[in-house]
Amino acid sequence: MGILVQKFGGTSLSTPQAREHVIRHVKRELASGYNLVIVVSAMGRRGEPYATDTLLDWAVQNGNALGDREKDLLMCCGEIISATTLCGLLENEGIPSTVLTGAQAGFVTDNSYGNARILDVRPERILRELRDQKVVIVTGFQGQTEAGDFTTLGRGGSDTSATALGAALRADMVDIYTDVNGILTADPRIVEDAKPLTIVSYTEICNMAHQGAKVIHPRAVEIAMQAQIPVRVRSTFSDTEGTLVTHPEGFNDVQAGIVDRFVTGIAYVSNVTQISVECPDGNGTGMQLQIFKSMADNGISVDFINVTPTEALYTVFDDHSEKAIAALQELGLRPKSLSGCAKVSVIGGGINGVPGIMAQIVEALSSQNIQILQSADSNTTIWVLVKKEDMVQSLRALHAKFELHR
Ligand code: ADP
Ligand code: MG
Repeated sequence: MGILVQKFGGTSLSTPQAREHVIRHVKRELASGYNLVIVVSAMGRRGEPYATDTLLDWAVQNGNALGDREKDLLMCCGEIISATTLCGLLENEGIPSTVLTGAQAGFVTDNSYGNARILDVRPERILRELRDQKVVIVTGFQGQTEAGDFTTLGRGGSDTSATALGAALRADMVDIYTDVNGILTADPRIVEDAKPLTIVSYTEICNMAHQGAKVIHPRAVEIAMQAQIPVRVRSTFSDTEGTLVTHPEGFNDVQAGIVDRFVTGIAYVSNVTQISVECPDGNGTGMQLQIFKSMADNGISVDFINVTPTEALYTVFDDHSEKAIAALQELGLRPKSLSGCAKVSVIGGGINGVPGIMAQIVEALSSQNIQILQSADSNTTIWVLVKKEDMVQSLRALHAKFELHR
């Protein structure tokens, strides 16, 4: 029988009731004959005792003098606590299980502490434990450099751990268990009538994840896509099958119509600052080069770039804006900035070449008196920048306009 990877997120492990659900899913899949590899996140959210953000707050309270390497070591603790907790519960149920850290599970990374990249996954130890009839619980979000230092994979890193293991183990499937019923047409915390999607392509969900839908990390989807491992995003708290993420060829006849939908979903990134720089003397090209080189040199990631011969317009995250403005002033430029903006994206493989989609977006937003500060489009996505206070209303208006609740 094949291997199934199950990943449980922070809220799926944070209470005794939630952990009972986890055990239910484990038992069910064991009964159907799978070899199980379970990837866990740290339990709970900021404020709860063993959550990653709580550990980081603790470090700050202690003077915030920790270096990046030591911070990663600290951040590895949350997953170790949740993995051993689950291990104890499974043993209680008579299910033999063992815990492996990221390093023991074979994750080799570079040394970009806090956001390390996976260089290799060497799953021999996991395979050995599976042959010994154990359920293998792996601490998500972790790796180790070749030199033996602990690293972490960045926000959403446990999703990446799960699909990377799925790829290395040639698993039949990776199940991402979370606190919502799969991937929805929008974040259900904001759009109440957002609807779960039954099946989506890797590309569609990769786009949504890149545009801010944090239900799954985009890197995790990319890894699954490369390895062609199907992923299911589903709820810990129910038995519904959630959303299947696969290749369009994997869409069967019954669901064929779904491939043709124009718009798959709506996503957002909040807390961005719009920066505009006018080019006074018509030397646009030279100035643009200077601007973007200086942003890169300062490690500031830029987005939503519109350049014309007389102006450069782009966005940075709010917490990079001061640094960005200072760098531009140093170049002798007079940048203008508007902080507290949000990027709202309408995503769908069917957008390409369909006339009138932008008109519908403008109609939906202007009917609510929402000002579009900037817009751009690609084959699969249309982006609009709005003020943050208009974000929620924008998401709801667009969701309704494209009838995504149906
Ligand atoms: P976990 O701890 O299980 O990894 P996350 O908080 O990272 O959970 O991701 C789940 C959350 O993602 C949901 O509670 C939901 O608010 C949010 N979310 C954002 N966009 C979407 C979407 N399109 N579909 C489903 N959930 C979404
Ligand atoms: Mg997550």
